[in-house]
This record gives sequence, C-alpha cells and structure tokens, in this order.
Amino acid sequence: MKNNLKYSRRHSHEVSFGGVTIGGVRPIAVQSMTNTPTADVELTVEQTKRIAEAGAEIVRLTAQGKREGEALAPIMEKLRAEGCAAAIVADIHFTPEIAMIAAESVDKVRINPGNFRTTNGELERLIEICRRRGVALRIGVNHGSLAKRIFDEWGDTPEGMVASAMEFLNMCRRADFHDVVVSMKSSNTRVMVHAYRLLVEAMEREGMTYPLHLGVTEAGDGIEGRIKSAVGIGALLADGIGDTLRVSLTEDPECEVPVGRMLVDYFSKRSGEFEVESTEAYSPTTFKPRTQAKPIVHSELSDEYDVVEAKSENPTHEWRAAILNRTDSRPVVLRRRYDSDDVERVAIYAAADMGQLLLDGLAEGVWVDAPNISAEAVHDIELMILQAARLRFSRTEYIACPSCGRTLYDIQATLAEIKARTSHLKDLKIGVMGCIVNGPGEMADADYGYVGSSPEHITLYRGREIVERNIHQSEALDHLVEIIKRDGRWHDPE
Ligand code: SF4
Repeated sequence: MKNNLKYSRRHSHEVSFGGVTIGGVRPIAVQSMTNTPTADVELTVEQTKRIAEAGAEIVRLTAQGKREGEALAPIMEKLRAEGCAAAIVADIHFTPEIAMIAAESVDKVRINPGNFRTTNGELERLIEICRRRGVALRIGVNHGSLAKRIFDEWGDTPEGMVASAMEFLNMCRRADFHDVVVSMKSSNTRVMVHAYRLLVEAMEREGMTYPLHLGVTEAGDGIEGRIKSAVGIGALLADGIGDTLRVSLTEDPECEVPVGRMLVDYFSKRSGEFEVESTEAYSPTTFKPRTQAKPIVHSELSDEYDVVEAKSENPTHEWRAAILNRTDSRPVVLRRRYDSDDVERVAIYAAADMGQLLLDGLAEGVWVDAPNISAEAVHDIELMILQAARLRFSRTEYIACPSCGRTLYDIQATLAEIKARTSHLKDLKIGVMGCIVNGPGEMADADYGYVGSSPEHITLYRGREIVERNIHQSEALDHLVEIIKRDGRWHDPE
C-alpha cells in the first residue's frame, strides 16, 4: 500500500474565547504565562501587557487560591480598559470553587483532570458558567500529575494521560459543551508526542474534533530549552497536530513568545508531497528504533552510516519517506542545510525538522549543515537535539519549571547557579521546581529535585523521596551537591 506524506492540518473544530478563535484552519495561536503573584493586580496587568505586546494571543495566569481567583476580575477590567485584547486563561489546580470564580471573569479556564474533583457535579456546574459567559475550557493533562485512580490503573503512561483526557471530554460531550481545548504535556518529549498521537486516535474513534494546545513542560532555559520544546512541538506540528502552543522556558515569559512564533511561521511554509511504500504513514505510539546503532553527531560519521539529505520545504516528511522506502537496515544520519547566521534560529529549525524522526526511532544521527555559525555551536546543537529526543545524554538534564505565580524563589538565577555547579554531571537529571504543590509530580523522572517549599526555603529530593526538608536557599545548593557526593554520583569538573 502507498501513502502520501504531506503537510496538512488535522481537522479540529473552531473554539472562540475572548477575541481569539482557534482550531479549524485558523493560524496556530501562541500562548505564554505570567509568573507574577496573581493577587498583585498591578504587577500582573503590567506583565500580561508585555507578553501580549511580544505577540502572544493568549496569556495564562495562575489562580491557586481565593485571593488570586478574586484578583482576576479587577485584572480583566484593567487589561481591557488599557486596551489589551489578549485572551486571558485562569490556571486552576485542586479547587473547583476557584474555577467557578475565575469563569465569571476570564475568557478560558484550564483545569487539570489529575486534581479536579468530578464526583460532586463540579465539572457540570463549571460548564454551565462557561456556557453562559462564552468561556472556553482547557482540559490540561500533565504526565506528572495524573489522578491516583488513573495512575493505579495505567501508571504514568501516555495511555493513562489519554484515559484521563477522554473521561473529561466525554463529560463535556454529555453536557453538549464543545468549547474545549485539550493538552497532554510532559517534560519527556517521547511521552508527550506519543500521548498527543494516542489522543488524536482516541478522539477520531469517538468522532471528536477538539482542538489541541501543545507544550513540553519544564523544558529549561537557553538554547537547550528552545531545542527541547522544538523537538516535541515540532514533531507534532509536522503532522498538522496542534492549534495553539506554548514554549515553556525558565526565563521571562516574554522570551517564550518569539520562539513560539518562529515555530508557527516555520511550519506555515511547509510544502511538498512524498510517496511512501508502506502502510505506516506516521504516528507510532511506541518507540521502536530501526537499528541499534549509536546515535551520532556529524563529526563522528563513519562508513557504517548513510546520510539522508532533505532539501524541500517539508524536510520531516521528505526524510520520513526516504527512510521508510529503504529496504536495507543501515543506520541513517539526517542532514539539512541552514543558512541563517543566528544560532537560536538554526537550533530551533533543526530541532523542529529532525525531532520527529529521532523520536520515532527512524534515524540514528544528525548533521546540521550551518556554514554561517561556528563549528562549536553546530556540535552543541547536534548533541542537544539528540538529548532532547532522548537518544543520547551528553550533559546534565535540567527539568526546570517555567515559574508562575506560585514560585517561591528566584528560579532563573537559581537555575543558573545550579547549572554552574553541576552541568558536568552528564548522567544526571536534576529537577528545579518553583513550588512543592506541583513540582515533585512534574519533575517526573528526575534523579534529584530542588523544590521551593516556602518563601526562600527549599526541599531536596532524591527521586521521589524527600532527603532534606525546608532548608534555607542560601544553603540548599551546597546540600544538594553533598547528597550527590554521598550517593557516589559526583565527580569534579575536568
Ligand atoms: S512547579 Fe509550581 S511554580 Fe513551577 S510552574 Fe508549576 S505550579 Fe508554577
């Protein structure tokens, strides 16, 4: 059987909220999230305006408690009075009552099925408020915070994430409410991509066309954070999956917007159609590598590997077709030329192009042919792409939250300090999380965790186990290093 691979958007229905319409053939909308304390109306309004001015159509605010929930009405009033038209989303965790308060003033409410009680008709009551006010709902599933009952049945798997989303979508459908968007985020790009693909399949079976919001959680900062996001988000966008997106970075929220915009613009130019002699068009939902060859960067190329170049405006499908049409089982290296002299742009484009093939186990190497940036930068980008696709770990992996109104310390400065001390420990994953409410769950499979537990105080984790509780931030990094040393996992930098 033959398949034709080409870029086309998945069919989703339109959902409107605030002044924004997403889904269908609408352009993919870019989101970001404030990290000010939401109860501080002035600060939050100012930051929301900066994010909107940077180009975000949708801005999310955390509403963790009653004070924050009640601050949303004056925030909305002030934003509109000052001419800010961005659609405003309230992020709810745990408390249905706050969701009801939020739905009375914002444009969209995000709930996490992992921590939103559904036994007492709360969702139905929330839906009624949303329906009355024209507010949309996001069912935001997170890999790290599945409900216990789902976790017990499925573990923290993509299948569990899908079961969680479908349960809520079915409740929305029963209530005849369709202004719903879904997300399936994880800091693990492979889990995230597989979860979205499984969800698309599950929704298709049920005749559902809800639009999707994409994101990789806790991606970190700098080029590394951008590459991790581009690998996960790009792998889905390449197949037309995704109606809104957020690039989560541990940086000022305004910095997330141009990266998201770059991805949207890049994929809007995809063209070219490629024939595949295979029943498999795309969408594997388990990882099955084509070969057992070592994942390589281009400076390590040997006779064992074949180079597959892509020159069209749809490199992901061009490579995919070329690899699926091969009859041999030699490992392949993906090569593409990028003429930009901007390291960030080359990194984001290459990660977005190549990520899908690597996550699907179809390629074993990357060759970012970028003559206008330094060889050193190219080498770093190639290694970071392999790491973001979870094929080869060459540096410490930081699972760092982007921070939000719940963050209990200066996470950007702290992440920089932690990196300065530990970035040579290439076999470790370190979680750096702003709060103890969501942090421990969302740092997923980190080996160690540095988690805000009260203002300027940190709780340190080994895996999911607490090792030191609530120590002052001034001592926390030294203590973390001591724990790593005691565990025999430390070595001095070379
Ligand atoms: S871990 Fe806590 S502080 Fe960080 S983004 Fe999530 S909720 Fe906000």
